[in-house]
Amino acid sequence: METTKGVLIVCDGLGDLPVGGKTPLQRARKPNLDRLAEEGACGLLHAIGVGITPGSDTSHLALLGYDPETYYRGRGPFEALGMGVRLEHGDIAFRCNFATVDERWNVVDRRAGRIKEGGGELGKALDGMEIDGVKVVFVPSVEHRAALVLRGEGLSPKVSDTDPHGPGKVQESKPLDASPEARRTADVLNKFTRMAYERLRAHPLNVKRAKNNLPQANIVLARGAGMFERVPSLKERFGITSACVAGGALYKGVASYVGMELIDVPGATGRTDSNLRAKAVAALAALSTHDFVFLHVKGTDSASHDGDLKEKVAMIERIDKMVGMLMREARDAHIAITSDHSTPVSLRDHSWHPTPIALWGPRVRRDGVKRFDELACGQGALGHLRGLEVLPLLLAHMGRTKMYGS
Ligand code: ZN
Ligand code: ZN
Repeated sequence: METTKGVLIVCDGLGDLPVGGKTPLQRARKPNLDRLAEEGACGLLHAIGVGITPGSDTSHLALLGYDPETYYRGRGPFEALGMGVRLEHGDIAFRCNFATVDERWNVVDRRAGRIKEGGGELGKALDGMEIDGVKVVFVPSVEHRAALVLRGEGLSPKVSDTDPHGPGKVQESKPLDASPEARRTADVLNKFTRMAYERLRAHPLNVKRAKNNLPQANIVLARGAGMFERVPSLKERFGITSACVAGGALYKGVASYVGMELIDVPGATGRTDSNLRAKAVAALAALSTHDFVFLHVKGTDSASHDGDLKEKVAMIERIDKMVGMLMREARDAHIAITSDHSTPVSLRDHSWHPTPIALWGPRVRRDGVKRFDELACGQGALGHLRGLEVLPLLLAHMGRTKMYGS
């Protein structure tokens, strides 16, 4: 059997519940998604398992064929990788915010007013420090976001966050087990937090922000500790070359972790204003040089967290145009479209409800489903799938799997 290319499109938080009798997918005008469902095979997806509400990190690992039970090591390393940090085996990575605290370390603004500029300069003041023989790598990303990496001997990811995750004081990091490594890591993180505060509050940029009545980015809050360990890549496991088109750091990070090439797309913001046409163009270009392309759209999840039904519907209609372009131009490819979890606008948070999936392409056995939504896909031939089954299913259609037995 000849091999074909494959595309996995993940619309974050797409699945929903009816609002006024209809889900956002049922409300949206989406001729391309419906044609994809009609010509393809459909089902419902439980990214982790039945009745489990997935985080985006674990569910993306599963969708890309990596069992989170084995491969999930905390969110920090994904965020760092997605921000372009080159991690080394054994690094402890955190996801961070620049924040504003008063003299008693009460958090006044968890995002330091979403600092629009200067994050890079502030980051430079923290990068390269050395604390008790541990090297600090600090890499700022967009707005208030950043990654912190502790590199050295005898470290552990078993430490608590310094981020209070809401109003309150900056937390002291505590070891989460009795190991000397956890103790040492918590100590280094606490020293880092203190040193960062001293350096940041004296930084000219913050002095200027204070003058302009802007919240000072005078502390770093860390969360999501994880140890980076190299894992076998998609190429090593399945013999395929692969590329990722995404805006958000987390998704790029998961993709990079499993060995995908990251394609930089100008205008891919990881927000509802993302340029989906540019993403489709980038995905098509990547498809000409790679066997498999993972394309992520975040806006559907963001709109859901905001409880914004109108925005979610609009986002789906924009995704529909993007998918139409892919269906037209990636002719011989197999395309799977789904989501990492449902994020019902009525709940404003992730949920356990399964999310629709459709598979389309020359070798797909068509079923009777004619529309791409939660209800229609529930009648489809794919039935109920787990996240870990998606990549093998796609690979089989792509002619990339071998017979089991003889
Ligand atoms: Zn998600
Ligand atoms: Zn979400």
